[in-house]
Amino acid sequence: MKTNGLIRCPKGALIDMDGVLYDSMPCHALAWQTMMREEGLEFPQEEFFRMEGMTGSATISALFARAGREVPPEEEIRRMYARKSELFTSLGARVLMPGADRMLKALEDAGVERVLVTGSGQRSLIDSILADYPGAFLPGNMITSKDYARGKPDPEPYLKGLSLLGLAAREVVVIENAPLGVQAGHAAGCFTFGISTGHLPPDELLESGADAVFSSMPEFADALPEILRNARN
Ligand code: CA
Repeated sequence: MKTNGLIRCPKGALIDMDGVLYDSMPCHALAWQTMMREEGLEFPQEEFFRMEGMTGSATISALFARAGREVPPEEEIRRMYARKSELFTSLGARVLMPGADRMLKALEDAGVERVLVTGSGQRSLIDSILADYPGAFLPGNMITSKDYARGKPDPEPYLKGLSLLGLAAREVVVIENAPLGVQAGHAAGCFTFGISTGHLPPDELLESGADAVFSSMPEFADALPEILRNARN
């Protein structure tokens, strides 16, 4: 673990989905790349790892702008995101992140309430959370791309999570895997764990404002019970 700060006793946790609960980012990157290729735009897969956490429509707008193409109207963006979602689902991408179940159990055992906070509108994953992680989340404890106007790296998704919990930022931790998500958690004022589960180096998460960084989810799950015990003292 590398750490920038000291954790306070948490009452709530705001937990990202892709790359944290599901090992879904490789399939997302492939689905994005394929969809954009169908639109005549070529991007390396790493591009999509860097944009991870943004909403689908923000991702599409940013990629068109970057390619020097006119940003498509909203209806076209919706069609493209539906196509990307279809490609993602066809890849059969529902792979649980190793260690995520133990991470959630450690929070539950310490009496920390959990809320999902995702930039995704990918129903095939969101709708599966309650079955894949039984008891980890109350049915209403989810903030998805439909619940806010400005996506990560803006703090709004995490601020919505805080108001759902009815807690202050200092009472809540964020669990993220991507630079833009870490930025959002940090900007919301929460102690932010950065878990490097993908292609980007852990130091990028520290630079994005993570308070503590782990190099894998199993490593984080191993350390979390003690972190929470110490935070309580
Ligand atoms: Ca993520």
